[in-house]
Amino acid sequence: MGAVVISIDAALGWGFHVDPPADRPTDRIARSRWGWTQLAETLETYDIPATWAVVGHLFEEECAGAHVGHPSPPGWFAHERGDDPMDEQYRYAPALLDDLVGSELDHDIGTLTYSHVEFDDATEALAHAECDRAIEAAETAGVDVDSFVFPRNQVGHREVLAEAGVRCYRGTRPEPATDSPYSAPLRKLARATVVREPPPLVEPEVDEYGLVNVPASLSLFGVEGPAQRLLAATVGDPAVRQAKLGVDAAASGEGLCHLCLCPSDLTTEADLSRFRAVCAHIDSVRAETDLTVETMRSVADHVATPDTAA
Ligand SMILES: [Zn+2]
Repeated sequence: MGAVVISIDAALGWGFHVDPPADRPTDRIARSRWGWTQLAETLETYDIPATWAVVGHLFEEECAGAHVGHPSPPGWFAHERGDDPMDEQYRYAPALLDDLVGSELDHDIGTLTYSHVEFDDATEALAHAECDRAIEAAETAGVDVDSFVFPRNQVGHREVLAEAGVRCYRGTRPEPATDSPYSAPLRKLARATVVREPPPLVEPEVDEYGLVNVPASLSLFGVEGPAQRLLAATVGDPAVRQAKLGVDAAASGEGLCHLCLCPSDLTTEADLSRFRAVCAHIDSVRAETDLTVETMRSVADHVATPDTAA
């Protein structure tokens, strides 16, 4: 399968709600709805469907933070209560979701749990509640959930996903080959800066619970820092170069290039330019080769019924 998948971790304020209010990245939260709409418009422009893993609470129309019976730790919904709750526009987003559901693109609307719970240290009861409530909120909006992304990529409780009816999830990025002349920290920087190697391409596979694991290849905003900003200003954006190499490798039939990002990664025009450059490249390579654009759901379909694979 020579294909590209883009998956988007759509959390708005929920990505940061357990941070103490003073530590929350207020600029990123304030730009997250802008980032969301820019992502959606760019995907429309280039005719690229994506997997949108959405925090289930964003489907809600209103909420005072009661969440009776939810087995969350004390204070989990504290940002919705009291005199100074987090602004509603970062806690629910039914209009943004309506636009995705109504898009002519065949977006795959999946889940990022109900309230952005990390599953590696969640209790089984909490994992169940987060899956069930997320799926219920989506179904109320007419969305069938097949795809699951673990908040902060903390994989856990996969058996709970299977019981809830999820079909596929985004696993962690494979470790790159270790025969590099660089030490591990240097390798991470070198991959994004000087080394002309594509990110790891991935092969989806069925796990022991019958779920299809569609691992990530590259986080488009995963390596940021002064070195990256300097390079972007001088020799071009290293993240774009990495992504293009991955798309080109997938186009040569070597596997699946799975790119991921969050709406809150986009806070500036430069961030948007990065995403646009990657989408433009996917679109042009798709026109010239057998490369296909898939979603996690369509990948799961191919894995489940391989005879119909492209
Ligand atoms: Zn709530």
